[in-house]
Amino acid sequence: MLAFLPSKRKQSSSGWLSFNAPCCVHNGNSADRRGRGGIKVSDQGWSYHCFNCGYTASFILGRNIGFKARKLLEWIGVPENDINQLNLESMRHRSMEGMLEDRQREWNNTKPIEFKEAELPEFSDFVTPDSPAEWAYLRSRCIPEDYPLMVAATSRSGVVIPFTYNNQVVGSTIRFLDDRNPRYINDTQSGYVFGMDLQQTGWQHVIVTEGIFDALCISGLAVMHNQISDEQARLIRSLGRDVTVVPDQDQAGLALIDRAAELGWAVSIPDWPDTVKDINDAVKLWGKLPTLLTIMQSRETSKIKIELRKRQLEKKINRPREIDA
Ligand SMILES: [Zn+2]
Repeated sequence: MLAFLPSKRKQSSSGWLSFNAPCCVHNGNSADRRGRGGIKVSDQGWSYHCFNCGYTASFILGRNIGFKARKLLEWIGVPENDINQLNLESMRHRSMEGMLEDRQREWNNTKPIEFKEAELPEFSDFVTPDSPAEWAYLRSRCIPEDYPLMVAATSRSGVVIPFTYNNQVVGSTIRFLDDRNPRYINDTQSGYVFGMDLQQTGWQHVIVTEGIFDALCISGLAVMHNQISDEQARLIRSLGRDVTVVPDQDQAGLALIDRAAELGWAVSIPDWPDTVKDINDAVKLWGKLPTLLTIMQSRETSKIKIELRKRQLEKKINRPREIDA
């Protein structure tokens, strides 16, 4: 379009190109003879401002040419064919990323989040002091007494942990007490995040962890993996809270840090002693409130600081362990 601008023009140091504005006579003003029309061109398009009649117009590469921009081009003398050609090229410039973003946004706004109702595995009763092994196990892991957990009707002793969403059962896991593999048997649905129903109205923060017991003992969320799927991210975002991801302090946890930073979420890597690998370990040692405090104190939102903390953690993990004599 620069080819169509009047030949008499002036370039300012801030990048504005000024010339006699073509707009004024079309807006009931007298013609500009003092070079009061200005245009600034960038890689992303251009914007125009007239200091005589006040007309403004802009164009962004990747978008349709708007009404005012089209008018301006006409006044400058750009043929209609060329304007239409410019429009087509602009649309072709639309980046792949932009299109994917648009699609994601559309999908996010239209598809409701729901999970199918599920059956619980067989269980004999709720866990109470009458089932001493299961009761002691849950107490040792600092699980609140009011969360409904059941005694699994399996040959290995275990507890059934219901997965709920909107207070409906949508899955479950059995955690066996003997620590043999498999330690868990999961029945879960794609995109599910454990702990949504633990979040209370009015809370500003939500803590995202890997493990179910970490989530239970601190009223957080568990993604049950060292990854966070796009569906899970969407579910977590639907809470509208400030998200803080707390990775397990082991090799697998490093992947969760990268993903959290990618999602633009805060990460907290408290400087816990070697024996404390995750939130549950911390709660067992210090209790819920002090653990929450260490998490909030170590909360980092800047990507650079998150990366630095990750490298520190990496060093700590790979450091040779002291061996008892
Ligand atoms: Zn004007």
